[in-house]
Amino acid sequence: MPRAAEGQPFGRFRANGVNSLALAAGSTIGILGGGQLGRMLAVAALQLGYRVIGYAPEGDNVAADACSAFITADWDDAAALADFANRCDVVTWEFENVPLAAVAAIPKPLLACPPRALEVAQDRLAEKRFVADLGAIPAPYARVESAEDFAAAITAVGTPGILKTARDGYDGKGQWRVRSALEASGVRFPGVPCIYEGFVTYETEFSVILVRGRDGSIRFWDSTANLHDGGMLTRAILPAGALVEAQVPAARELAAKTANALGYVGVLTLEFFATRDGPVFNEMAPRVHNSGHWTIEGAATSQFENHIRAICGLPLGGTVTRFAAIELRNIVGDAALTAHQILAEPGEPHLHLYGKREARDGRKMGHVTRVGHALK
Ligand code: AMP
Repeated sequence: MPRAAEGQPFGRFRANGVNSLALAAGSTIGILGGGQLGRMLAVAALQLGYRVIGYAPEGDNVAADACSAFITADWDDAAALADFANRCDVVTWEFENVPLAAVAAIPKPLLACPPRALEVAQDRLAEKRFVADLGAIPAPYARVESAEDFAAAITAVGTPGILKTARDGYDGKGQWRVRSALEASGVRFPGVPCIYEGFVTYETEFSVILVRGRDGSIRFWDSTANLHDGGMLTRAILPAGALVEAQVPAARELAAKTANALGYVGVLTLEFFATRDGPVFNEMAPRVHNSGHWTIEGAATSQFENHIRAICGLPLGGTVTRFAAIELRNIVGDAALTAHQILAEPGEPHLHLYGKREARDGRKMGHVTRVGHALK
């Protein structure tokens, strides 16, 4: 397979008369990771005439149902990664904790987006520093690498706060809330690098989801108000309310700066707390985001389709919201067992089930999107 210089599209990228270089239909997109985000990306890719090969270690890889091939192998399996790369024309990820070494094993010209985006997003300290350097205000925080650091962080940052593992946490996992200094004495340092953050008093959580094309153009979707339970998103709602709407412009500016600084290609998400003093940056996800699933039915182009368009060099689609009111609700745990009943409810709910084999407690099994009222 022909290889081009680093960062240059190659192989089956051709002048298509629309954009300068776009991946030819029938080409193969490789997705690292096998979860529901990969599954929904694969559906969007299929619609645009691409084939998809997934890659992830053994597990409930629900993306495989939508892929023409799926390689089940460990992240350090050099031969399997080489085989995967050989079969792909472009490679993306659906999961920010893909080990950097696995990404480094993919020839650089195949990667739609620089791995630096993953590197930054994999470490809560690195991402806070990176985005703070661009002007973001994060919650007060301190690095914690020992029990002594933890005690010092409680003094420096104060309580209430949250101790979080610096790496590998998601959906509230790897987090311990600390309501008081007394309570801190009962929280054991988990033995891995952590960050201790002051607890932010906020009105609403929101995210900025953008797509950046290979040509550097950027589009944003509307920001929903994001509701969480136990650290996991439960609902995302539009309109998001006056406070969020007032803070979106500054948050978007920061998100665009982040995407530009990373030379990002595809969908990028930054999460914020809307406080009375302005947006406080929480974290970033170098991928499509749960709070953007409503875009499948609710926006001119979904986050999944625009991610595929971006990495393939196709023109980006419009991101305008098509309805006056939208609600996305996650289906978690055994609620999935009766989810088909939702289809009988009024208001034309759109049900998405991820095909996971086991409806474990606290596991995202699907989502339902309700769109309402007149077109804007
Ligand atoms: P994270 O994994 O950092 O997104 O945290 C999961 C959820 O926990 C967030 O969406 C918030 O609901 C809550 N949370 C995390 N950090 C803070 C904080 N510093 N202050 C208040 N709430 C937080």
